[in-house]
Amino acid sequence: MNVIFHTTTAISVAVLLTDTRRIEQSTTSKNVVGTSILAFTVGLISHGALDYIPHCYPINSKLDAVVSLTIIVITTWLTNKKYRLIMGLSFLGSIFPDLVDLSPAIINKQLRLNFPAFEKIFPWHLHDYSGSIYNDNCNNSTLNHILLLLTICIICWCRRTDIKTIFNKDNEKNNWA
Ligand SMILES: [Zn+2]
Repeated sequence: MNVIFHTTTAISVAVLLTDTRRIEQSTTSKNVVGTSILAFTVGLISHGALDYIPHCYPINSKLDAVVSLTIIVITTWLTNKKYRLIMGLSFLGSIFPDLVDLSPAIINKQLRLNFPAFEKIFPWHLHDYSGSIYNDNCNNSTLNHILLLLTICIICWCRRTDIKTIFNKDNEKNNWA
């Protein structure tokens, strides 16, 4: 699936898993570290699920990479320091399979290098298991993309109080003063 869908999913994973009330009350970083590991794992699982379901690639690969990187940088920057590890590891988990399986080939192509290509590790990138659609019939794909974006919006709406805390920079000043 286009990376942009993985990165937007990562935001909802971080928001869904972060219990800001518990973290605000806690005096140690145990909750943050635990939630970060969980965010990486769920991000990785979400990548698998999204690559398994039928999908086309509506966004051009270069634009996809640039916009995704921009989303990652800006969102991580906007995140309160206290929650940055959770957000960062959620992003990392959600793009990790593509970094491992696809980036060597992309680097080879872009830099005209000849690094040996390894077998793909993640099953959802293999032809037999991937949901990539190789013809022009993208109705299922469009439906899946819409359902995904709708799910992300619903999660963010239901967790809006946590979102306010996660992106609250005033609170950051107080904490780190
Ligand atoms: Zn993938």
